[in-house]
Amino acid sequence: MAHRGMGECPVCRYEVKLSQQQCFAEQHIAVSHGPSREQVFAGILTGGNPDWGSSRQYVHWACDTCIEKGRAILAHPKQQEFYRCWPYFAYFSVRFTCPRCEVEFEFDKRDQFNRFEVEHHWVQVWPRFCRACSSSKPLRTPLRYEAIQAMQPPATSSGEA
Ligand SMILES: [Zn+2]
Ligand SMILES: [Zn+2]
Repeated sequence: MAHRGMGECPVCRYEVKLSQQQCFAEQHIAVSHGPSREQVFAGILTGGNPDWGSSRQYVHWACDTCIEKGRAILAHPKQQEFYRCWPYFAYFSVRFTCPRCEVEFEFDKRDQFNRFEVEHHWVQVWPRFCRACSSSKPLRTPLRYEAIQAMQPPATSSGEA
């Protein structure tokens, strides 16, 4: 059991006092539909996600030193689209194996920042395949506006002149 209020940084593995880390500063994480600091700390200290949200098990955060040294990038929950899952408190590069080509690739921390805070993808949607495989996927033909309109029930004229 970790010391009270101390958590192991997922990047450098040093134990730090959670409440003193800039990624958990009160005004930084205050999002009306987001978790409270207490919920975040409980999620970290239990090593899982027992109390809040459901979609992603682990809390992504990093200690101040890792952010200052560039091993992680400070994330901004206010800039992210999330619902019933942890927002990101920090981004750090993660390596995983693409299930399609079985090549190991890195989801870079800067790509994560762009994906979640510039392009505003839902944070619970992690890219499944490597970049090469993702871009070779056949794109679904977008429905044309006329086709969408044709699917609508005929408009009623009530209320119109
Ligand atoms: Zn660290
Ligand atoms: Zn691939």
